[in-house]
Amino acid sequence: MREAKTNQRRTLKPKKSSSIEPRHIILTALALFMLGAIVLTAPKQQVTTEQPARVPPAAPATNAVPYTEAEMHRFWDENLKQLIEVQWLNKKLPFQEINDRFRVLTDSIKSITGTNPAIIASPYYHTHSTSVLGQAGRETNRLTGTVQVSITLYIPTIMDYHKHALNKFGISAGHFPITVLVTAMHELEHAAHPHENVAMTDLSEESRAWQETCRHTIDPLVVNHGVPMFGTEASFYKAWVNDGRRTGQAWTNNLYRLYGPLAIMKR
Ligand SMILES: [Zn+2]
Repeated sequence: MREAKTNQRRTLKPKKSSSIEPRHIILTALALFMLGAIVLTAPKQQVTTEQPARVPPAAPATNAVPYTEAEMHRFWDENLKQLIEVQWLNKKLPFQEINDRFRVLTDSIKSITGTNPAIIASPYYHTHSTSVLGQAGRETNRLTGTVQVSITLYIPTIMDYHKHALNKFGISAGHFPITVLVTAMHELEHAAHPHENVAMTDLSEESRAWQETCRHTIDPLVVNHGVPMFGTEASFYKAWVNDGRRTGQAWTNNLYRLYGPLAIMKR
């Protein structure tokens, strides 16, 4: 998972985000869509994760979404539809390395579940935080035993992020979809990893997923396609490069800076 993050505060308020990365939550009120189609709709069902007992208690109330469904649809159509829905999901990005990685990860998921991961564009905020941009999940149907892997993109948070992307992060409107693409690939790295850990923030899993994101998504974008990075992805990439394209002290420092405070919460 991934969040919009600033360095100033670690609150859970919108636009001043923290670094919670809960990867197993009780998913409520989500709209599920299989690969190839992302649509925003009303909630249909509640899905629980495999080990809900280890999941932290849900927030008392769902954060009110300050956007209408029409606004969210318009935002999607104007900003994300082309790159995420048309190109990414169909492996037709102008970045072949990412198309290839997408295929590897989704094939890996299919080998476990028999189906493509569900890609969810949620018209709600994450249960625990209005700053969570995306999250990977794995749910088991307790009746049939089938496993469904999903990636959720939280559209209200992404819209909040978009509003302040330029003045807080220096992200231009043209670049913004790339930020969401990196987020989506990061979640796919989590989703395809067979050894799930349900801890609120699992530093080793975050470290692993961000390394893979650097190697397979960010590095090709920067080196082969000249695409700049900002915010969280820039901080991980810079640390990874500084450590010699592997993990070292710079990497560990950045990981703890972004995720350390939340790791304490699971005790
Ligand atoms: Zn993550």
